[in-house]
Amino acid sequence: MKATCICPGSYDPITNGHLDIIRRAAAIFDRVVVAVLDSAAKSYMFSRDERLEMVEGAVAGIGNARAVSHEGLLVDLMQREGITVIVRGVRTAADCDAEMQIAKANRFLMPQCETMFLPAGDEYACLSSTIVRELIRFRADISALVPRSVTELIQ
Ligand code: ADP
Repeated sequence: MKATCICPGSYDPITNGHLDIIRRAAAIFDRVVVAVLDSAAKSYMFSRDERLEMVEGAVAGIGNARAVSHEGLLVDLMQREGITVIVRGVRTAADCDAEMQIAKANRFLMPQCETMFLPAGDEYACLSSTIVRELIRFRADISALVPRSVTELIQ
């Protein structure tokens, strides 16, 4: 097993579902780098700095995880950090389809790169950042769905 993996995502914002995947990755790998990225296809509710701040707060209690923010291709960050394993969470068959395409694209760009999928935790299978953003827009209580760093930043 390689010592370090990377958990990339938009984290707009990070949810308890993401955090569950990060914790489980941290139990498998010696070190986990949680990378906050921008996708050209998306527009975000939170800036990359805000998303990074929320992720940093969320992983503060996980001794072998650290958060970074990166502009550009994930594989460039991986090559710079000497990481070859990506861990992604999957909730549904639709997630699987989309993730396979991303995994193939990353392997095309970096042939030694492997993507490992962890199934979403049962209680998080219907939880998405999209739902959380909707709830934030309507000022609903999201405290049960996200790490405290998210509710703190919103307040
Ligand atoms: P992206 O914009 O790159 O899809 P996200 O922040 O939405 O980034 O998601 C990052 C990763 O976390 C993806 O692999 C996604 O499928 C996974 N994920 C999102 N929500 C959950 C959840 N509730 N449980 C497990 N994995 C999740």
